Amino acid sequence: MTAMSNRFRQAGKRIAFVPTMGFLHEGHLTLMKEGRRLADKLVISIFVNPTQFGPGEDFSAYPRDFEKDCALADDNGVDIVFTPDAQDLYPKGFDTYIHQERLPGHLCGLSRQGHFNGVMTIVAKLFNIVAPHFAIFGEKDFQQLAVIRRMTKDLNFNIEIVGHPTVREPDGLAMSSRNTKLNSDQRDAALSLITSLRNAKGSIKNKQTDSNQLINDAIELIGSHPETEIDYIKICDPETLDDVSTIDRPVLMALAVRVGETRLIDNIILTPDS
Ligand code: AMP
Repeated sequence: MTAMSNRFRQAGKRIAFVPTMGFLHEGHLTLMKEGRRLADKLVISIFVNPTQFGPGEDFSAYPRDFEKDCALADDNGVDIVFTPDAQDLYPKGFDTYIHQERLPGHLCGLSRQGHFNGVMTIVAKLFNIVAPHFAIFGEKDFQQLAVIRRMTKDLNFNIEIVGHPTVREPDGLAMSSRNTKLNSDQRDAALSLITSLRNAKGSIKNKQTDSNQLINDAIELIGSHPETEIDYIKICDPETLDDVSTIDRPVLMALAVRVGETRLIDNIILTPDS
């Protein structure tokens, strides 16, 4: 991979990179499209990274379909699909992880201890191997994007981080590889995530500025669906991820909900008077 990257760079080509865990869907394909628009060469990685899954999480059950992913990559103008082996990336004796002080202490970082250390470590390794000019990440994983932006700045990676809006199913459900795990009742229940975020947007239009009220409305709606278990629903500052109690500026409303066995996340930016 690095040799090919060097060749591209020597030929004056700009490289865009989209890291993924595979089981590609329209959300991933949209990031790839953005990559093709930005650069001459498009590299994606497919790697289900063991270090970002905690004990009891769905590492082994994570959906995988390598052949279909390659066909999709082919159809979507990807130049290189990089599919490293876990043994190559984490050989015997591997002992170095990236830690960030503040951002991981919010939202998903609280219930997924060590998750962002794993994410930052793999992304830093992939950045070093692929040496892209641009790396594109989805806003669906808003905290991940924030953590990566911070890491890129703090560790002086010479890479432009590009965020892309969440791609949704026609009914609003945020696309996710994990959606395929939902049965039809769970699929209906999962829709309550985006419905509650959109309701919050509606309440803001009606001049509601109290975060607790919006959060309670969301808890009530999501909780009224069977098989839902709320991990968190937060309204916070989009930069620091610190809680915001009165919505007097653009804020992030983010949530994580278990539907059956499947943990789903979603978020929206709420802007007063919008
Ligand atoms: P994953 O394969 O789930 O690790 O995701 C790989 C990249 O695709 C990450 O940057 C995600 O934020 C992004 N992504 C996943 N789902 C979506 C979506 N529905 N819309 C936009 N980006 C997404």
